[in-house]
Amino acid sequence: MAVCALHGIGVSRGYAIGQIVRLQRDQAEIAKYHLSAQQVDLEIQRFQRSLAIAKQELQHTRARLPDSLPAEIGAFVDTHLLMLEDSLLTDAPLELIRTQQCNAEWALKIQRDQIVQVFETMDDIYLRDRRDDIDHVVTRIQRILLDGADHTAPPPSNRFSGRIVVTDDLSPADTILMQYQGVCGFITEFGGPLSHTAILARSLGIPALVGVHNARRYLQDHETVVIDGQHGVVLAGLEPPLLAYYRQRQRAEQQRLQQLRAFRNRPALTLDGLNITLHANIELPEDITAALDVGAAGVGLYRTEFLFMNRDHPPCEDEQFEAYRDALIAFEGRPVTIRTLDIGADKQIDGERQNRSRPTNPALGLRAIRLCLREPALFRPQLRAILRASIYGQARLMIPMLASIQEVIQVLQIVRELKKQLQDDRLPFDPQLPLGGMIEIPAAALCADHLARNLDFLSIGTNDLIQYTLAMDRTDDSVNYLYDPLHPAVLKLIHMALTAGHAAGIPVSLCGEMAGDTHYTRLLLGLGLTQFSMHSGSLLEIKQIVTNSDVGELRQLARQALLSDQPQDLLSRLTPQ
Ligand code: PEP
Ligand code: MG
Repeated sequence: MAVCALHGIGVSRGYAIGQIVRLQRDQAEIAKYHLSAQQVDLEIQRFQRSLAIAKQELQHTRARLPDSLPAEIGAFVDTHLLMLEDSLLTDAPLELIRTQQCNAEWALKIQRDQIVQVFETMDDIYLRDRRDDIDHVVTRIQRILLDGADHTAPPPSNRFSGRIVVTDDLSPADTILMQYQGVCGFITEFGGPLSHTAILARSLGIPALVGVHNARRYLQDHETVVIDGQHGVVLAGLEPPLLAYYRQRQRAEQQRLQQLRAFRNRPALTLDGLNITLHANIELPEDITAALDVGAAGVGLYRTEFLFMNRDHPPCEDEQFEAYRDALIAFEGRPVTIRTLDIGADKQIDGERQNRSRPTNPALGLRAIRLCLREPALFRPQLRAILRASIYGQARLMIPMLASIQEVIQVLQIVRELKKQLQDDRLPFDPQLPLGGMIEIPAAALCADHLARNLDFLSIGTNDLIQYTLAMDRTDDSVNYLYDPLHPAVLKLIHMALTAGHAAGIPVSLCGEMAGDTHYTRLLLGLGLTQFSMHSGSLLEIKQIVTNSDVGELRQLARQALLSDQPQDLLSRLTPQ
């Protein structure tokens, strides 16, 4: 058998060896067939059978969800079960099959497009996002229809155990669900390495490749493949000796991670005695365990939007309060930086890029703080919940995507009002709760001195800062080659933010993926960064580099990098050998 190598972009290091499961998420491949009058009844039965199987599958999954899972995962499955009862998805396609004498897949696609159109016109942004649920349910039924008659037993909740999922794109929500179903690797045809799905795969430690075009055409169900996440390649058709070689590489990688554990209890002290703070980024409750496990000094970024996913309604104030309180308690007095809701852009697109009615430039649209200021019903309960939780540890409140000082002023005003409300309600909170802002937009970096005078800390979000500075969509693999943390413009903006924070006497952290990338640690140290926040999987390796670095020496190198028109040339001197 010939070896087949497909190249993509590795989003998380490590090797996955497993059997392929191809999934279809897009609707593009659905074709229309005209049926004879006699075939219509059979087609109706086929559609009804697929609905029954979809329901059975979901009930099966629901019954086997472990208790340890967040309640919203169960609620997500319940929502899909309810949708399977809805006449819009059950009766309407039947009617289309009858009247148009068309195949069930086509009828379902037409009905799906109509429902989605109605959702798109809704003003309520949260409701508008429910179209993703519709798509999840429709995709499930389509898969059953396309799989044919042999699709019988509902998949167990360990459906993807030892499997590598190949699909066009994955939503962050799907990624979470598949992790619970035991998936060992992902290959997607689209998506960039900084998409939130990729970030999630990295933080879950799942080897993944994105941007592997036509992967579903070249890879076959059930064949065993190897994902080499570091080199961004998937290999199929390997003979036993080569498979054995990759299993050995997999073990060596596990050993390397094991050896890094020696750094867990060591201080993050540079050779010249500078104390560096290494924080973790967390998204899901289990990230807390992972962060504690590597001895993170706290949380530099709690992406709260994951609390809002896979469910029908946003979590209420009390539910959010409990989640934030639990994180603060778990970190026992170490700082926990809770970022307010940052939905929008790829956190709601979920790979459905074909749909024309989405905003043309979602990354430039109503996301993060813009959306929150527009939707007080979403924002105020979250702020109240964070304030109430703040007494359980060292909480810090962080605002994403700041573009101007006016946004800070508005947030400060709302926080003041809410504090007053809480006082009136006799609910305790930390009156000194620090308020920080993310530097993710070039305008914010350029005006970081203004922001720094009004905030208690800054955090540089390089994922977005690079996206907006270099005008490259972080979710689009076709422009991924432009992602360059060493671009002189990016370095200048990072430097500006650091200088502004230091001049104002406030801490500055960096919490984009760059913080956990070993290529840039020494440069960032040289630029004066003393607080890094990253996914837990990188923390010990970064600590190893920190403890081998002399910041005095690196300052000189960083100065050269800032003056250079091609700082990439310095990379070999910046990267630890
Ligand atoms: C960033 O933009 O660097 C960041 C940390 O925020 P997110 O990746 O969640 O957009
Ligand atoms: Mg961001």
